Amino acid sequence: MANNYVYILDGKAYVNLTNECSNACTFCIRNTGDGVRGTPLWLDKKPTADDVFAAFSRVKDELKSDEIVFCGFGEPTDALEVLKECAARFKSAGYRLRLNTNGLGSADNGRDIAKELNVFDTVSVSLNQCDADKYAAVTRSKYGKAAFSHVLGFAAAVKAAGINVVFTVVDTIDGRDIERCEDIAKKTGIPLRVRNYVADNYGDN
Ligand code: SF4
Repeated sequence: MANNYVYILDGKAYVNLTNECSNACTFCIRNTGDGVRGTPLWLDKKPTADDVFAAFSRVKDELKSDEIVFCGFGEPTDALEVLKECAARFKSAGYRLRLNTNGLGSADNGRDIAKELNVFDTVSVSLNQCDADKYAAVTRSKYGKAAFSHVLGFAAAVKAAGINVVFTVVDTIDGRDIERCEDIAKKTGIPLRVRNYVADNYGDN
């Protein structure tokens, strides 16, 4: 199996650290495919930071953006130490950094990890739905209905750590649910981005 730790989409580099994830979202592209736009993203081995940089050097010439995105085929914070090492190395090389996360990283790691993400320019948290019941139904999280409060707590902690944080939802959910997500965004002071499912869902939260 080819382990594609770094892949390029529209001139931007995406880093694929792990296939682990505490959710099993009904809409995840992992349910229906092996990767993104012809790039297989299932891994048979988690990378070291050196593996990631070796992969990055092979695709670097295709870059048209200075932003590096850590995202799926899995949850990047489930490979926290490698995530932090890679992020620090990319940052010192002058790149902007975005983390796309399901927001369950603190629950998964058993501690509040928000401050450990302070090298990121943006942390994008998948809100997915507007309440605990609907979140649990759509994500089939191993945390069940407790998952939603984990996500809200994580996002608040990232904001409190002084990191730019945004919520995302996919535009396939009901319009009234999007309005309720917008209410959450207003209450928390965390902006909400409504993502286009077809164009923008890389299974990356
Ligand atoms: S969409 Fe993201 S959070 Fe949901 S199962 Fe897929 S990788 Fe996990």
